[in-house]
Amino acid sequence: MASPFIRHCLLQRAPSIPRAAQRRLHLAPPFLLDDYTPRYLRLTSRDAAKKRSKAYAHLRNCNLCPRQCGVNRHETTGMCLIGDTAKVNVIAPHFGEEPCIQGHNGSGAVFMSGCNMRCIFCQNYDIAHQRNGMDLTPEALGDWYLKLQEVGNVHNINIVTPEHVVPQVALSILHAAERGLRVPIIYNTSSYDSLASLELMDGLVDIYLADFKVWEPSTSKRLLKADDYAATARESIKAMHKQVGDLCFTGDGIAKVGVLIRHLVMPGKEAEGAEIMKFLASEVSTDCFVNIMEQYHPDAHVGKKRRRRRVSSVAEEEPRRRNEPAEEDGEVRYSDINRAVTSEEVSLVREAAVRAGLWRFCDPPKHDGFAI
Ligand code: SF4
Repeated sequence: MASPFIRHCLLQRAPSIPRAAQRRLHLAPPFLLDDYTPRYLRLTSRDAAKKRSKAYAHLRNCNLCPRQCGVNRHETTGMCLIGDTAKVNVIAPHFGEEPCIQGHNGSGAVFMSGCNMRCIFCQNYDIAHQRNGMDLTPEALGDWYLKLQEVGNVHNINIVTPEHVVPQVALSILHAAERGLRVPIIYNTSSYDSLASLELMDGLVDIYLADFKVWEPSTSKRLLKADDYAATARESIKAMHKQVGDLCFTGDGIAKVGVLIRHLVMPGKEAEGAEIMKFLASEVSTDCFVNIMEQYHPDAHVGKKRRRRRVSSVAEEEPRRRNEPAEEDGEVRYSDINRAVTSEEVSLVREAAVRAGLWRFCDPPKHDGFAI
């Protein structure tokens, strides 16, 4: 017997209701699940063993993200500067995510320190660039997932910035699964992933919470220090969607499986946002669940005074030798993005998304119920 809420949902989808009205409600049976079992609980022991052995192999020769460092992470570090143990900054129930992710009890966030990207506007600079945090083995990490589930009663385990610690994350999920983990796993990524790492995650991750930041290689080279970002993100997002499909919910309004794309609108980059929306609609799915975000704020290197050294004598060279701060010349770095976005820029991206055929957005509900 369906619950009153599900009966209400099904009634909303009765054939007599015009299609446009149905869509405004964001409710559709293909995206509503009766129940959900996380994918890692459906792995055979043989598949789990294969994943373990692949994870260790990647650690011995890490080409796991597009940086392709080829280092043995038991001995040294590559561009991400993280070795064979994950460095973790914060582990806690988190209430800053989309309503369908955080729910009423919070999302079990695990913020990884370090990153394989170098975004000059990083909104988590102290965690991603300065690598503050504690080292945890995969087993200790997995035990924290269990604590989040048992003590925090969270709706999911939300691994934030996992791209550079995929082997450690895979091992931690397998460890926790054996000890009673039963909530979905969220892979919360910049989308600067390799197909090899997504293959390792296949069967372990339920929800891909994936950013698509900018479109033009010249922009990503300047702002993310990765000129192949958009090409990589396109392939990664297609691979994620192939694994888990469009975002689906149980009747309580909590997302359980699928892809949720986030696009942070950047100042003056609304045309790139529009290209991203067209790509999602034409090459991923018009049913893609999209969060067009407007909370960009200048951070990290943006808006800082440019520093320039004018060395004309031995006396002026001396502070440099002693590694003292350079003289500031008053110019501001990345001044073109040293502001918040305007509502017009956000609207332009949203309109482009609608024109492209997307319709599932992370908006406050226009009805009594959840935004699903
Ligand atoms: S995960 Fe780190 S070490 Fe491995 S390829 Fe990427 S940046 Fe290099």
